[in-house]
Amino acid sequence: MGAGEYATPVESRSDRDCDGSPPQSARNTSRTILLYGVLLGFLLLAFAMLLPCMVPARSTARANACRNNLRLIDGAKEKWALENKIEDGAPVSKPELAKYMQSGWPSCPAGGSYILGVIGAPAECSFHDKR
Ligand SMILES: [Zn+2]
Repeated sequence: MGAGEYATPVESRSDRDCDGSPPQSARNTSRTILLYGVLLGFLLLAFAMLLPCMVPARSTARANACRNNLRLIDGAKEKWALENKIEDGAPVSKPELAKYMQSGWPSCPAGGSYILGVIGAPAECSFHDKR
């Protein structure tokens, strides 16, 4: 080493604070990343815990909507039988009952199909259990 030559410092002064730790801005960034990571972890955990609770609620809502549809079909069957003096045990047809459905023919929210049955017996859904 000649005169006037100085060994260059391994790290420039701006990379480190006086105590050798990373500067304030770098520490804040890593702290923020950690905070977001923890937050995301908690959110995922909460979502994972809530998911099983939400799935049965949705299927219960579908079953209730289906039950309500079956009630409408039964009501239409009764009306049709009364107005046409049809006796119990007589088969019913969808086009005849559709005339009594003011808001169109209902469909099972879970994709089941309705088994109309006969007059005097309740209609059933192929997907949901009997009432
Ligand atoms: Zn159904």
